Amino acid sequence: MAASSKKSPEEELKDINEELKTMGFDNMGEYLAAMQKNVKKMANLQRDGAKMAGVLKNCNKCQSVGEKRCTGCFLVWYCGRDCQSQDWANHKEDCKKTRKKYEEVEFMELAKYVTAISLDQKEGCEAHHGIRTGPKVAQFVVKVQIALDGSDGMLVYNKDRDVQYTMSYKSSLGNKIKQQIENNDFMSIKKGYFYSIIRDGKNLINPQILPPETW
Ligand SMILES: [Zn+2]
Ligand SMILES: [Zn+2]
Repeated sequence: MAASSKKSPEEELKDINEELKTMGFDNMGEYLAAMQKNVKKMANLQRDGAKMAGVLKNCNKCQSVGEKRCTGCFLVWYCGRDCQSQDWANHKEDCKKTRKKYEEVEFMELAKYVTAISLDQKEGCEAHHGIRTGPKVAQFVVKVQIALDGSDGMLVYNKDRDVQYTMSYKSSLGNKIKQQIENNDFMSIKKGYFYSIIRDGKNLINPQILPPETW
């Protein structure tokens, strides 16, 4: 019975209908309608996922609109100073753990890789590996795009595009970031958002993926 290649179309159809019955459908039409519903559900889920970006910016204490990030870990939000100090006992341990996860970026060498282009060139500013930030902007969200051509360079940039460089996924941090993107890539866009800070002249990124941004 295993070799069933010689079944007539009628027999095939009968098989299909029987299989559908085991799934709780009376016929193909019912099955297709159910599938279509699921496609809609999936679209809604994705839309809700995008909404989460806003939800997750709520105050870590009172759940109202988060205005400021915790300046220790930069991953949680507070509506103001009061909530932040009230929440500190609760958040302290998490904050410490998150802070330790920041790792230094290893830039891909400009000479070898043409893709490491700094937008600063037009200002005549010799970029140190494509990084240039004003003194007030030492922390920002970056978008990391895995190369679509399969090369190991990942393009990293911030919303204002005053930071742009290429990092390899073969570095320790790059590898973690690539993994996070791939594990959360429900829409197969090979992109993810991460938090980046500049401390003691070093460019650091937390390899924990952030909810999607709108840019
Ligand atoms: Zn609050
Ligand atoms: Zn914190």
